[in-house]
Amino acid sequence: MINQHANQFVCDLVAYETGKPIEETARELGLNPSEIVKLASNENPLGPSPKAQDAIKAAASEAHIYPDGGGFKLRTAISEKYGVNFKNTVLGNGSNEIIELLCHSFLNPQAELIAAEHAFVVYKLMATLFGAKYVEVPDPGFVHDLDAMAAAINENTRLVFIANPNNPTGTIVSESEIDRFMEKVPDHVVVVFDEAYHEFLSDAPNTLKYIEQGKNLCVLRTFSKAQGLAALRIGFGIASEPVANILNKARQPFNANAIAQAAALAAINDEEHITATVANNDQGLAYFEQAFTERNLEYVPSVANFVLVKVGDGDKLFKDMLTKGVIVRAMSGYKLPEWVRVSVGTPSENARFIEVLDQVL
Ligand SMILES: *Cc1c(COP(=O)(O)O)cnc(C)c1O
Repeated sequence: MINQHANQFVCDLVAYETGKPIEETARELGLNPSEIVKLASNENPLGPSPKAQDAIKAAASEAHIYPDGGGFKLRTAISEKYGVNFKNTVLGNGSNEIIELLCHSFLNPQAELIAAEHAFVVYKLMATLFGAKYVEVPDPGFVHDLDAMAAAINENTRLVFIANPNNPTGTIVSESEIDRFMEKVPDHVVVVFDEAYHEFLSDAPNTLKYIEQGKNLCVLRTFSKAQGLAALRIGFGIASEPVANILNKARQPFNANAIAQAAALAAINDEEHITATVANNDQGLAYFEQAFTERNLEYVPSVANFVLVKVGDGDKLFKDMLTKGVIVRAMSGYKLPEWVRVSVGTPSENARFIEVLDQVL
């Protein structure tokens, strides 16, 4: 068996389960792709920023040239927008790649990674990939317990992940809670704030300030959610300089492709598209929460672009809705078999979801 000669940590991995693609659903069920509503991957229902779409077309004719491996233009725009130095920035093939780079850089079989019990599952996969110990801290009420997470830190801890807001729970911890947490974090630990849903927050905690305070941290952001560029795989980290330097060593030279860099550069200051996206999301969240309340369905109040709702048998509901062309995300992989996660869509997609929900419940 070749497996016994392969890297054991890789063999031990359980592959990440993605949201079910529209084309695959259409193929399997004999449906027309245009009839299918996908509310399974927290994508932007308004599509990509129109400015980014123009930039993608313009970049196409240069597709024979390798990208700028240093990411000069995009990293400059990021540093200007967020008031940090160029050297604090790192680009990734999605922010998921930066999660992997952090684990590659800081984990080994003696090291430990701390995350919340219902945290984004990629942290656990990456800890497994590098053979590290994954320490799961209970999150009562689906909210990160930062005091308990601080208490779990020991001399082997290298990374603490705080997804804020967290996926799949949609909950957040406040800046004052984070302040108190950061005071307790020793120098041998890198704190990772995964802020994939940052743009959806009306009052986002400022985590970049800890960089000036000399802490070891990395803030993760992405163009996949509010900017609607999930297909291009582009995200970034803003890290304290020593951490950013390490991450920039660990990455492949051309990890962020040129078309994605061009699109992200156009999208980053497209406030109009982000404002429309956030307005649609606020309306959709309110609609879902009201609909769940009316149906006596328990849900977790969310500040992101998705809601976790308790439906009984989540896997069954996922399958039943699928046959009617609505794709949601079952949560058994998160040890939440009674729940599903639904992303906010356009008003008509949201209404279709509720209509089908009523049919299958
Ligand atoms: C969607 C998401 C990401 C972003 O992934 P990309 O690789 O940038 O597409 C990262 N973290 C969390 C918690 C997410 O939900």
